[in-house]
Amino acid sequence: WRAAHCPPDVESLGRATWTFLHTTAAYYPEAPSPTQRAHMLQLLHALPQLYPCSHCADDLGARMQRRPPDVRSRAALAAWLCTTHNEVNAELGKPTFDCGRVDERWRDGPRDGSCD
Ligand code: FAD
Repeated sequence: WRAAHCPPDVESLGRATWTFLHTTAAYYPEAPSPTQRAHMLQLLHALPQLYPCSHCADDLGARMQRRPPDVRSRAALAAWLCTTHNEVNAELGKPTFDCGRVDERWRDGPRDGSCD
């Protein structure tokens, strides 16, 4: 546990970054324009250059080379990101997330309305 006013460690930076990326994917257009696709690719390709955890950044760069981001639609991007996050989860010994629940987790909230 670290106090909220401390600079982020690898864990809290990771949580914040995944929150940003999954939420951005959740609101990405269903049918993005060429410009929107280009912006999303720029955002993702900047991460291996700029992400302030060098081994995480190198690792992500290698993953993106092996399995390039799919920015053709909201669903494709959300699925790519979920798979990528699951690869990182596996490497860290964390449980696999069910990618069928990505909209519930990052956009719609649970059906019981507990997040409304
Ligand atoms: P997180 O993994 O941060 O996940 C946050 C929430 O996202 C979870 O509570 C869950 O509700 C949801 N979630 C989990 N999996 C998925 C999924 N597949 N799809 C959608 N939602 C999901 N840490 C390292 O120690 N070494 C690394 O090499 C490393 N690389 C990273 C690379 C990137 C690009 C990022 C963003 C982070 C990286 N991290 C790395 C940090 C690590 O992934 C976690 O963020 C950190 O360990 C905190 O984990 P957490 O258990 O709180 O949940």
